[in-house]
Amino acid sequence: MDSNETRIKIAVQKSGRLTDHSMDLLVRCGLRYSRGRDQLICYGENMPIDVLLVRDDDIPGLVQEDVCDLGIVGGNIIEESRLNIEETSKTEIFKKLVSLDYGHCRLSFGIPDGDDFLGSESLEGKRIATSYPAIVKAYLKENEINASVIQFSGAVEIAPSLGRADIICDLVSSGATMKAHNLYEAKTILESTATLIQTPSILVDSKTDWINRLLQRIKGVLQAKESKYIMLHAPRDALQEIRRLLPGSEAPTIIPLEGRQDKVAVHAVCRENVFWGTLEDLKDAGASSMLVLPVEKMLA
Ligand code: ATP
Ligand code: ZN
Repeated sequence: MDSNETRIKIAVQKSGRLTDHSMDLLVRCGLRYSRGRDQLICYGENMPIDVLLVRDDDIPGLVQEDVCDLGIVGGNIIEESRLNIEETSKTEIFKKLVSLDYGHCRLSFGIPDGDDFLGSESLEGKRIATSYPAIVKAYLKENEINASVIQFSGAVEIAPSLGRADIICDLVSSGATMKAHNLYEAKTILESTATLIQTPSILVDSKTDWINRLLQRIKGVLQAKESKYIMLHAPRDALQEIRRLLPGSEAPTIIPLEGRQDKVAVHAVCRENVFWGTLEDLKDAGASSMLVLPVEKMLA
């Protein structure tokens, strides 16, 4: 049953910003693995899932060509690959299964300090340096702007000071890199997070079953991370107000308190973080003995 044909291969970035988060996610989904001697494959020990460690830029191609069934990669690389595949062939493209909660960044135009940006028209006639030429060209086309796109494979932010470009279009998370190179972030054209993708090829049933299971577990992990379990004591006559204050919770469990007619215990799962401010509001509404606990696993 666990032959090569029925084991799922998932491509993950070998070493970079997405690596630890992606392996941690798979472990939270229950995967135990051992590393191959070459350190390039992690073999699943308790699930028929093996992880291939590769450069992130190669992931969409490996998934598209069915070398891997699944891949975890940034939305930026997915979009660039999608546009390139669409341009060169009419084949069906890999599917996006779920956006994950890490690898947040955006693709933005960076303009030299002192130069004006009055909207997309300010790009007209300019030389734009980027590692994402397909995305930038698609944006220019959509906005009917004529500009030249110069492809850089790295260190895009130094292109203006080298005189190679007027403007850049690059990934930003905090904005510190652009600032350090005397550029300001003028316009975002893509928001990105790490995303799970699946091959467009038809898979055997056993693989599809495991992929569905993995997907449910990933959704459970994402929900659990956002959720908190809250327990408190509340006067009966304040229950309505207290329920209103609990962030993102469905019907709470109400438990009688031994020897008390006026008070009950309330237990609820909140689908959002519970901040100090919320606890203070609950206290003002009459709640006491409040406990907030992390949720480890969730399955609807
Ligand atoms: P590789 O060696 O695998 O090609 P890389 O240098 O291209 O690695 P990383 O810098 O590790 O890639 O980034 C991986 C992904 O992390 C990016 O494609 C993007 O989706 C995401 N990311 C999040 N924040 C940033 C950021 N500030 N700059 C660049 N990428 C970011
Ligand atoms: Zn890369």
